[in-house]
Amino acid sequence: ADFSAAVSAIRELAPTGRVLLICHVNPDGDALGSMLGFGLGLRRLGVPRLQATFPGTFEIPEPFAALPGLDLLVSEEQAEPEPDLVIVFDVAAVSRLGGLADRLSRARATVALDHHASNTGFAGVNLVDAGAAATSVVAEELLRRLDVPLDAEIAECLYVALATDTGSFRFDMTTPRVHEMAARLIATGLRPGEISRRVFDSRPFGAMKLSAEVLSRAQLDPTAADGHGMVWTYATLGDLERHGQRPYVLDALIDPVRCVAEVDVSVVVKELAEREWAVSLRSKGAVDVSAVAVALGGGGHRLAAGFTGYGTPGDVVTAVRDELGNHLIP
Ligand code: 5GP
Ligand code: MN
Ligand code: MN
Repeated sequence: ADFSAAVSAIRELAPTGRVLLICHVNPDGDALGSMLGFGLGLRRLGVPRLQATFPGTFEIPEPFAALPGLDLLVSEEQAEPEPDLVIVFDVAAVSRLGGLADRLSRARATVALDHHASNTGFAGVNLVDAGAAATSVVAEELLRRLDVPLDAEIAECLYVALATDTGSFRFDMTTPRVHEMAARLIATGLRPGEISRRVFDSRPFGAMKLSAEVLSRAQLDPTAADGHGMVWTYATLGDLERHGQRPYVLDALIDPVRCVAEVDVSVVVKELAEREWAVSLRSKGAVDVSAVAVALGGGGHRLAAGFTGYGTPGDVVTAVRDELGNHLIP
């Protein structure tokens, strides 16, 4: 990748210019963790005018509400309108930048750090490593090339990013390189047990009751994907309201659903607004769900992807079902 071009742009513009860091809408652990970890690194370099932001509702999911570097964050409305340097994190396509996409066209230089195979190469400098388990792997490498040493705060952000995107070091992308990076991060003194409890094992009672309800309406479709099978469920804004929960709690639902042994593909359809749904797709290896998501206007990785769907949950699931057979992995 083009690390030296990224280093040059940062060395030229960051000491005096306005720097804006952006991650994707509805940020997950990798989006926030890689952005804030890198932001703290730029702060250590003395970058004076530095903001971090993401598009849409300015809400930090509770699991990430104690990350170091949160004070770098501003809402989309408060974000510098005319930045000199824009650096984006974990963003596969401009559509994931919502109303912040215009900051890229105005900036003097743009750098993207990402690991999605579906990345469209929309930035001036694209550090896209589809073999990296998380964007934070790319962020750590760029910090090293900027001669920023890891400290416990930077490490915590990068660790949360790595742990969330690898399913706590269980997914296929969990290479020796991932464990070597985890070792460097843990060596700064962070506490993996404490971080895991906060990020993964700490959910409101209402979220558990909501999960029970949403999981109980799951349906099995064994003939989908040429017989590899699909399981799906959906959650509405009404479900959230009834249990007094925020939308981010729905992001954890894909985990129990993707564990269903009888099928290859799992789908969770989450209401965003009337007739508009965020769709999470997971595969165990028979179907390339990234290609399915791209065909439906989204993106992601071969075994984990998503898109925005429209209509009823039944409409959305039918659209997925119709695409599955076109994207079987040989
Ligand atoms: P999740 O299901 O956890 O929200 O997302 C799984 C993967 O799919 C992530 O890598 C995420 O970046 C990608 N993804 C989810 N939703 C969308 C979407 O609407 N558009 C694109 N381009 N990618 C998405
Ligand atoms: Mn992400
Ligand atoms: Mn990621």
